[in-house]
Amino acid sequence: MNTDSYKDFLSLCKKAINTEKNVNISSEKIKNVSQGVFRNVDKVRTLASNIKSKFINDLSDNLVIFDKNFSENGGEIHWCVAYDDFLEKLYKLFEKQKIKKVNLFYSKFMEELGVEKSFEQKEIEIDRENKDCIVFSPSAGIVNTGSLFLNFTSSIDMEQVLASKLKIFILPINEFLFKPEEIEIFSHLYSIYKDEIDYPYLTSLYTPQPIGKENNVHLFIVDNGRSNILAYKEIRKALNCIGCDACKKVCPVFNIIGEKPYDNVFSGPYGNVVLPFVENIESYKHLPFSCTSCGNCSVICPISIPISDLITANKHYFFEKGFMDVSDIRLAKSLGRVLSSRSKMNQKVWKKNLKIKILLNNSKNISEKFTFTKTTFNQQQTNSKKNDE
Ligand code: SF4
Repeated sequence: MNTDSYKDFLSLCKKAINTEKNVNISSEKIKNVSQGVFRNVDKVRTLASNIKSKFINDLSDNLVIFDKNFSENGGEIHWCVAYDDFLEKLYKLFEKQKIKKVNLFYSKFMEELGVEKSFEQKEIEIDRENKDCIVFSPSAGIVNTGSLFLNFTSSIDMEQVLASKLKIFILPINEFLFKPEEIEIFSHLYSIYKDEIDYPYLTSLYTPQPIGKENNVHLFIVDNGRSNILAYKEIRKALNCIGCDACKKVCPVFNIIGEKPYDNVFSGPYGNVVLPFVENIESYKHLPFSCTSCGNCSVICPISIPISDLITANKHYFFEKGFMDVSDIRLAKSLGRVLSSRSKMNQKVWKKNLKIKILLNNSKNISEKFTFTKTTFNQQQTNSKKNDE
């Protein structure tokens, strides 16, 4: 989001807040369901948070252990820096195995990597009946057993994935657990916080088995900007996210503006934290200023991620490192004004926190920057749209 697209974001926000909408930000149902499932929900959330943090704080060592165990089981791992690197390696595998048709299962991570759009461009046919090759996103990798935790929406999907001759799995670097016993907690938390009910998903703990000489199980582990988050300690906890979207449900701003202004797979409070890092700071530095610091997202998060604090940490960081100039400050203030103008949001609970704390640091030179991927998938799509116009 450069200054121009930021202005577009602002005008979409203005449009959204002027549209009459019934905003419901109650979290009562989630609380009731979780209390019916767990005797002490807070203890479970702390446990989940500790498991995730333990993995993230020692991410590279844990991934090395997983790599060893998965490979010993007969699977092959492909390490990828970003979406372009991933797609290049994937097409090389398709070429080697003469794959022209795949059974692709939609996931948010696939969308982030632009898999479906890229298949269209490369004329790889997506065939939902195909039994020769599936492309699927597991819910987690299990470090100690070198296996994958798979979650299915139907028994047909389950059968197709498990019976496929060539299995291609895609995982981001942060979606791992240590042992199979931990799956239970996260399955329940995900179901309750995502869908507000506790229903048993169809799942499988899949351990690769080599068939003949040709390896038939491939796992692509993709960073795609996550190590930028890892490098900035203050917001590292964002990598614990399980993608339940509960924070969106209780965000007063997101409930008004919705997905549209973000135009990205990441949106809402979580998007405000990670987008500047998985895309790039220069284009997304304004986003944290769309937060009213109400703290609802931190309270609801099943993994106890202090999202509101992470958003504040981003604001401070962008000022301290000199990413914000005078025009950015004007735009950020303007966004704060726009988003606090709707009467629904002006109830007491928001009012006291509405003032965005802007630290006016004398713009320092940017001495320290992360290394970002040159152009992310989403930016590439936006640029090509602009070129087409
Ligand atoms: S930050 Fe927490 S509440 Fe938001 S999507 Fe992630 S796990 Fe769910």
